[in-house]
Amino acid sequence: MKRLELVLFIMSLIFIQSCNKEDPVIPEKEKDEQGLVLSFEEDLQKHQGIIRRYKFTDNKKLVSSKEFEIPDFAKEYSTSENQEKLRSLIEKILATSALPYVKYAYIHVGKANGEGASGFIGYLNEDLKEMYISISLSELVFDLRNGKKNKESIHTVIHEFGHTVAENVSQITPNSTGECNGGISNADTNGCAKKEAYINKFYNEFWKPVIDQIEADPNKFIKDHPEEFVTSYAASNYGEDIAESFTFFVLYDKPNGKEVKDKKVSFFYNYPELIEMRTRIRKSLLILR
Ligand SMILES: [Zn+2]
Repeated sequence: MKRLELVLFIMSLIFIQSCNKEDPVIPEKEKDEQGLVLSFEEDLQKHQGIIRRYKFTDNKKLVSSKEFEIPDFAKEYSTSENQEKLRSLIEKILATSALPYVKYAYIHVGKANGEGASGFIGYLNEDLKEMYISISLSELVFDLRNGKKNKESIHTVIHEFGHTVAENVSQITPNSTGECNGGISNADTNGCAKKEAYINKFYNEFWKPVIDQIEADPNKFIKDHPEEFVTSYAASNYGEDIAESFTFFVLYDKPNGKEVKDKKVSFFYNYPELIEMRTRIRKSLLILR
């Protein structure tokens, strides 16, 4: 690919947020040209351009376990050096978290036309017990080329990790009926949040009081209430809101302000296990304060 096209392609990625809600987290089974059902990973390769799978070892190291064919458009920047940079970043953030549910990490490059997510998560099976995380290599390369070091990628990895904190099987139960008794339905998983789940508490405290206004006119609500959200993407839905607020909780100091977005970040300080998680991640990233 020519340099300009590559730049345009990567430029387009900066407008893509950390999750792509249009892609099902458990990919639909799809048939290839011969009518064969694509496997889970073939599906991810086709739709997200995964190029490498890593597995967490028992001692929380992230080791390569499979390489996929790199699409032509991404060959120039999908060097082993860049892949190693991203692997190391994911390991630094996730291995310190001691969350037992995430078994694999993928890196992906999206599609040639720039479609793709900065990151996404999913489940290996419908029992939701084992999860994976995938992070875009294209975003990291864009950052490096623009002198931003790996700032956006750090944000993305913590954001996706935040989804796994909120949506692992200790927090939600599989649900095939789409109806939840008490707990809110989770858009990502078709699961139900448990009563004590972080996301249920977060929803009841911050979304429930204003849900009628949001549902009536989401764009107007967001425009009229910027003080509610840490980023505009957080306003997408409560699942993205908790992941974005979690990212701010990990990366920045405890807010002193009284706005709703400050309360959303402070929400996580109610949980000692999350404070511990924050400390470990910050140490590994050398944010030592
Ligand atoms: Zn997300």
